[in-house]
Amino acid sequence: MINVRRDFPILTKVHNGHPLVYLDNAATTQKPYQVIHALVDLLEHHNGNPHRGAHVLSIEAGELYDKAREAVRKFINAKHFEEVIFVRNSTEGLNLIARSYGETHLKKGDKVVIPISEHHSNLVPWQRACRKTGAELVYMYLDETGHFTEEDLAKIDERTKIVSFAAVSNVLGMVRPVKEVVERAHKVGAIAIVDGAQSTPHMKTDVQDLDCDFYVFSGHKMLGSTGTGVVYGKKALLEEMEPFLLGGDMIEYVQEQTTSFNELPYKFEAGSQNVEGAVALHAAIDYLNDIGMDQVEEHERELTDRCLEGMLKMPHIHILGSTDPKEKTGVISFTIDGVHPHDAATILDSYGIAIRSGHHCAQPLGAHLHVEASNRVSFYIYNTLEEVDYFLSKLPEVRKVMGFKD
Ligand code: PMP
Repeated sequence: MINVRRDFPILTKVHNGHPLVYLDNAATTQKPYQVIHALVDLLEHHNGNPHRGAHVLSIEAGELYDKAREAVRKFINAKHFEEVIFVRNSTEGLNLIARSYGETHLKKGDKVVIPISEHHSNLVPWQRACRKTGAELVYMYLDETGHFTEEDLAKIDERTKIVSFAAVSNVLGMVRPVKEVVERAHKVGAIAIVDGAQSTPHMKTDVQDLDCDFYVFSGHKMLGSTGTGVVYGKKALLEEMEPFLLGGDMIEYVQEQTTSFNELPYKFEAGSQNVEGAVALHAAIDYLNDIGMDQVEEHERELTDRCLEGMLKMPHIHILGSTDPKEKTGVISFTIDGVHPHDAATILDSYGIAIRSGHHCAQPLGAHLHVEASNRVSFYIYNTLEEVDYFLSKLPEVRKVMGFKD
């Protein structure tokens, strides 16, 4: 198992007299010293507004920003530097694609196909794109354990122009057959967009191998800081697309009535760049590369295996989606008979255990499953089997505290 806890200062926190057990990694991850120090080094020695000045600090900040982009390119194996665009997060990335590609390419009669399990950030932008263009938003409803069915996949037909889906669901934790779905989309002439918010931090990503047209992810879910996300797009598509935001830095030449745009990737990066975020993401990528993404995946699988095994023995616990650890990353959502998820999370917090409760930004899935809210534990590289055992030992306490006798 990976042993990196000493690199994460926040993990020494004590809460309610208990060592903090942080199991909300699908929401955001903690930061190692390597990332924190990279940020401090930037702010102490290299801070400037990149691509704007001829002075030393602007140049140094610009170099660090571009080096970070190159690190991202390698990490996801994009073919070209220009295909990596920095945005604020996955949400902004998906909005960029829905606005700059979706709203300009869709028309009445076209279909956008997405699974019912999508995060709101890969759903609400498609509602608007469809409303504006007259296209139809069509859902794949999945089987009872959260898998795509043949009927779902058959919805990707000749009328479909866009298929957009998460490589890993943030509620079900299930790893999707990305290549297969991308292939099906391409067969009917549609483009495939992959939301990698829950996959990029946890497994190897190779966008050329996946052959997806767009791919997005968030830095803060993989040891980086908030406010940094990435859109990968195939160069030919990005080149013909309209910019998303307009203003400084994304222009080539501005006249009173017209503007020509900067080249890729800058065309999509209006305004002063988030150099801190890019530098933090670069440090995070170096850190993950040092461990190895295969090891990251293996570590989380062991934790998930142990946790699922324990939870499946508890009669009042119900897990959403597949219970096969081979099909999942380290994300387990569940309900407890008779206990509201917020109560469960509050009781576990009193034991120092941080878990998520709520609709997980996937209300249509909740409505479809008739589970409006649930709890979720999610693991990362610094979690241990001892923490899983501690969580499993405290989970039955929840019903006891709520007054249930069994
Ligand atoms: N997609 C998925 C699958 C997610 O889990 C999340 C974050 N919970 C997002 C998109 C949105 O990420 P962000 O909040 O960083 O934009």
